[in-house]
Amino acid sequence: TTTSTPIPATLIPGDGIGPEIVDATLAALDALGAPFEWDRQEAGLAGVKSAGDPLPKAALDSIRRTRLALKGPLETPSGGGYRSSNVRLREEFQLYANLRPALTIVPGGRYEKVNLVVVRENLEGLYIGHEHYVQIDNDPHAVAMATGINTRQGSRRALEFAFEYAVANGRKKVTLVHKANIMKALTGIFLETGQQLYESKYKGKFELETVIVDACAMKLVLNPWQFDVIVTTNLFGDIISDLVAGLVGGLGMAPGANIGANAAIFEAVHGSAPDIAGQGKANPVALMLAAAMMLDHVNRQDLATRLRTAIDQTLNVDQVRTGDLGGKASTPEFAQAVVARIKNS
Ligand code: NAD
Repeated sequence: TTTSTPIPATLIPGDGIGPEIVDATLAALDALGAPFEWDRQEAGLAGVKSAGDPLPKAALDSIRRTRLALKGPLETPSGGGYRSSNVRLREEFQLYANLRPALTIVPGGRYEKVNLVVVRENLEGLYIGHEHYVQIDNDPHAVAMATGINTRQGSRRALEFAFEYAVANGRKKVTLVHKANIMKALTGIFLETGQQLYESKYKGKFELETVIVDACAMKLVLNPWQFDVIVTTNLFGDIISDLVAGLVGGLGMAPGANIGANAAIFEAVHGSAPDIAGQGKANPVALMLAAAMMLDHVNRQDLATRLRTAIDQTLNVDQVRTGDLGGKASTPEFAQAVVARIKNS
């Protein structure tokens, strides 16, 4: 169908390279005639500058209304400063599962034909940042403490999302990654919940294996093809999904979706890349692929496929690539090449 009802969606350009890759992605979506009706909002450093808040109320209200967002990276100061707007967004909209597919699109890297998906629990664990210092004598920062929380219910909904994803996408194996040999309670609950859920509802639909996170890191580097879907807790998922992005050509190629009960937010896995911001060097593929996931999410698989095909042809047939992939194209040049492919599709 060429005409369809407009779908309201929030657009957050974000910080650093965010506005550049968002412009590139919008050009591709416009060429496709994607049905999104954008409500543009600021957050991150851009939110601090425009509204004095890294997560302005207007942005939150917009997502409350649309329940759907495409977002550029948001800068978070390390150490002090404000709390990550990304983490706040996940909490606010209960975005409990983070889906990160890793697919080799450009051959000639270290690993050919990688096709795996990481599902990361997105709201719990050691990642939530409940931390404090303890003073001893005159040193106020003598001891640093962090609290990790995993719940059976929280583990279950992330695991269920991963298991349902595996079934819906014909995946053969799910690998549950944990560290229950050492963190017996904190990550043991995730392991046990996954095993119970598998036995009660999913046995026979796919294979479930369990791997300890350190061994998983090694196995991913030695033989990534042995993996299909990986499901893990928040902090391990944060690290493993960047590792997996590296297997398929780096952060410029890795999209992500934050899926929740009340909203879904699509983004690139990478950050604001301050080292190359404003120079027209950023690779927009990760955000374009996130937009393709967003099209899948609103059941426009037809447009998602056209977008993915256009990206593939631009990279591999036209050989138009940004610097991170060894090419010479600027961000707008790459976007124009994708647009040309879409128009011919
Ligand atoms: P980063 O992902 O921004 O950059 C890491 C390296 O990868 C840099 O060398 C960068 O130039 C390169 N890179 C990243 N994306 C690229 C692209 N599309 N094209 C070409 N090269 C690319 O990680 P960082 O430097 O650790 O973080 C910078 C900021 O981003 C921090 O404030 C961090 O908190 C934030 N961040 C935000 C998100 C998010 O919004 N989801 C995710 C990660 C980091």
